[in-house]
Amino acid sequence: MNRYHGRVVAITGAAQGLGLAMATRFAAEGATVALADVNAQALTDAAGTIADAHDAKLRTDVVNVTDSAQVNAWITGITADLGRLDVLINNAGIIRDNRVEDITDDDWHAVIDVSLTGGFHCARAAFGPMKRQGYGRIVSFSSMSWRGNFGQTNYVAAKAGIVGMTRTLALEGARHGITANAIAPGLIDTPMLASMNGPARDKLTNKIPMRHTGTPEDIAEAAAFLAGEAAGYITGIVLDVDGGISI
Ligand code: NAD
Repeated sequence: MNRYHGRVVAITGAAQGLGLAMATRFAAEGATVALADVNAQALTDAAGTIADAHDAKLRTDVVNVTDSAQVNAWITGITADLGRLDVLINNAGIIRDNRVEDITDDDWHAVIDVSLTGGFHCARAAFGPMKRQGYGRIVSFSSMSWRGNFGQTNYVAAKAGIVGMTRTLALEGARHGITANAIAPGLIDTPMLASMNGPARDKLTNKIPMRHTGTPEDIAEAAAFLAGEAAGYITGIVLDVDGGISI
């Protein structure tokens, strides 16, 4: 499949988990992929893994999405080097779970800064180039948690914020050929999920109507659809990819 031939796709948090699965998928479909992550070693390893499997043009940048100067330099570098920016995948996110009274200031700000403000930094930087070329796809990562989840006040606030941000980006981008959508994954097998303790994970898995967790490839499939040219009349939505747990 070559549906992304000639397209430039930028992905944050691309060194592992969902980010790596999406980078691999876009590369397999012919895109030039710009991978960004705060973890330099994991980023190099990820790019190596993709390059071994696919003959794709890749660019890697160590970027902390909480730092707007780094994000601006990343996006400017992509457009200068690759000539355009078609797709932004706002994927970087972290969890620091606790009951509300035990969430420290640090835990609150860290989660909001990466999972919400980081996405804003990237969308703001991407909007100019996308507007100029009259084409853009922004896909941001919410979570099934966005409707509320015990022990995740900070994460839920960030992920609900992503939904509000996405709907507003959709309004502002619509007349410029830019769509903005969110994906709300359920329980997906990644290092983030592995960090959840066993009994809590098992309890949640039992609540999934399909009775099993999702794979990173399930999410990559949804992202490849929403970020594609063919999804041009879809904007401002939250796509649940969760085995039915949100029903
Ligand atoms: P992960 O922890 O496996 O990977 C996240 C990546 O983001 C890592 O490579 C990490 O180094 C990078 N990152 C962290 N902070 C960063 C920063 N400041 N700047 C740049 N990169 C940074 O997570 P994942 O499971 O692949 O999740 C990806 C996204 O999907 C996140 O936004 C997460 O909230 C969301 N999500 C995941 C699940 C799930 O079950 N895995 C469910 C719902 C939502």
